[in-house]
Amino acid sequence: MSKQSPRIKKAIEIATKAHEGQLRKTGEPYIIHPLAVMKLLQEWNMDEDSIIAGILHDTVEDTSLTLQEIENEFGKDVAFLVNGVTKLGKARSGMKDLNEYLPQTGNNLLKLLIATGQDIRVLIIKLADRLHNLRTLGALPPDKQKKIARESLEVFAPLADRLQMGRVRVEIEETSFMYVNPKRYEELKKLTAERLKKADKKLKAAQEAVEQALKKEHIKYSCDGRVKSIYSLHKKLAKHNQNINRIYDIIALRFIVEDTTTCYLVLGIIHSLFHPMDGRVKDYIAMPKQNGYQSLHTTVITNDKQIVEFQIRTREMHDYAERGLAATFFYNEQKLTSAYAEGRINKLPANLFWIKDLQETATKLASGEKIDEKKLRLNLFADKIFVYTPKGDIIDLPKGSMPLDFAYRLHSEIGASCTGAKVNGKMVNLKTKLHQGDVVEIITTKNSKPNPGWLDKVFSRHARHKLVSQLHAIIPNFRPKPKDGKNSEH
Ligand code: MN
Repeated sequence: MSKQSPRIKKAIEIATKAHEGQLRKTGEPYIIHPLAVMKLLQEWNMDEDSIIAGILHDTVEDTSLTLQEIENEFGKDVAFLVNGVTKLGKARSGMKDLNEYLPQTGNNLLKLLIATGQDIRVLIIKLADRLHNLRTLGALPPDKQKKIARESLEVFAPLADRLQMGRVRVEIEETSFMYVNPKRYEELKKLTAERLKKADKKLKAAQEAVEQALKKEHIKYSCDGRVKSIYSLHKKLAKHNQNINRIYDIIALRFIVEDTTTCYLVLGIIHSLFHPMDGRVKDYIAMPKQNGYQSLHTTVITNDKQIVEFQIRTREMHDYAERGLAATFFYNEQKLTSAYAEGRINKLPANLFWIKDLQETATKLASGEKIDEKKLRLNLFADKIFVYTPKGDIIDLPKGSMPLDFAYRLHSEIGASCTGAKVNGKMVNLKTKLHQGDVVEIITTKNSKPNPGWLDKVFSRHARHKLVSQLHAIIPNFRPKPKDGKNSEH
C-alpha cells in the first residue's frame, strides 16, 4: 500500500474510516471489498479517478459519507463515478431478467445505464465490484448465490464481452456457472480433464513438430495450450446434441507471433505439416468477431490421428482478447473516441462506434434534453438482438437477422435442413426479421437441402458463410452473386 499515490492513500483512509465496524458476510472487515475492487482496477490499468471511485464505491450507499464530501476531497469526476456506480446498483436490484434490460422497455435502468455510460468507467468499476462479489459468493446463502450467479451470467458476462474483456468474461462465466449448475460444472470439469490426459502425448508431439518447423524458418513465437472454459463447453455441447466428439476445440494450441504476416505464414506451415479439416479454417484477422476478437483458427488432424485446434495471433491481438478495453488500451481508445468527436482524427475502428453513441446519448440525457422513448436504444447492445429458443436459451444475433440466421447459429445442420420457422408460436416467412425477445422455433425436415434462393434470407456473416460453403458442396461450380447492401455486422 506504500506504493500508492497520496490521493489513493487518502481515499483508502477515508473509506476505512467510513466502513469502520461493518463486516462482510464472510465475517471480514468490510474494507476488504473496496480494497479488492481497487486492486482489480489497478490490474486493469485504470486511471487514478476510477481507482479512487472503486475504493469509495460503497460509501455513499452504506455509510454516512456524502457525494458532496467526496467531490470536495477528490473532485467532480470521482464524485460522478461514485454516483454512477451507486445508481447502477440501485437500479439493478429488483431486476428480474435480461428482458428488463433491453431497448423496447425504455425503463429507468436503461436510462441509468446510458446516463452512467456517459462514462464507460462506471461500467468497468461495476464489473470489478461484481467480480469480487462473485469470488466471495461462497459466504452467501444458496438461494442468493444462485440469483447473483444467474444475473452475472445474463448481464455482466455479456457486458464484459462487449467491453472486450475476455479474461474477465471467462472468470465471471466459470464462477457463476459453478453456482448455477454445480453438478454439471463438476461433470464437465472431469470430462475435460480426462480428455486432456488422454490427448497429452499426441498434443506434445504436434506442438513439437510445429515448433521445429518454426525454428527452421527463424520465426519468433511463444506457445501455450488453452483448455476451453467449462461454461463455453456447456454452451457448445447444447448446440451439438451433447456429442463431445463433435467439439474439436476443447484443447487448443495457441501460437503468438510478431506480426500479422507471420500469423498467415504459421498457418501455412501448420497446414503443410497436418491435414486441415474441411470448413474449420477461420480468419478472424481479416474478419474480426463482433466483439473485436482477432486470431486465425484452424483444426487439423495430426499424424497420430489427434484432432487439434491451433490459434495464431499477434501479441497485440492476444492482449486485446484478454484484457480488452480495460487495458491501458481502453483509455487510449476512449481518448480516441473523443479525438474523433472533436474532429482530430477522422477514422474510428468500427467496433468502437457504440462507445461514441452511448456517450452522445448520455450527454443529451445529462443536459436535460428530452429523448423519444421509442428511439431510445441501449447502445451497448444496439447492434444485437436477443432471441430465445423454445427451451429459453438466449441467443444473440446481429440486428436484421432472420430465422435462417438463428437456425445456422444453433447448428449448420439445423440451418441446412430448415423448412420453416415459427416465431412466437406462429409460422412465418423465412424473410421475416426477428425482433428483440422473440421465441424462435426452427422446423427441419430430414434430407432437405439449402438452395441459392436462401442467400437473400440470411443476414449474418456467420450464416451466409455456412450457407455458401454448403451450396458449394451441393452445386458444382456454384458462384454466389455478390451481396448488395451493407451488412451491419462488423
Ligand atoms: Mn460493492
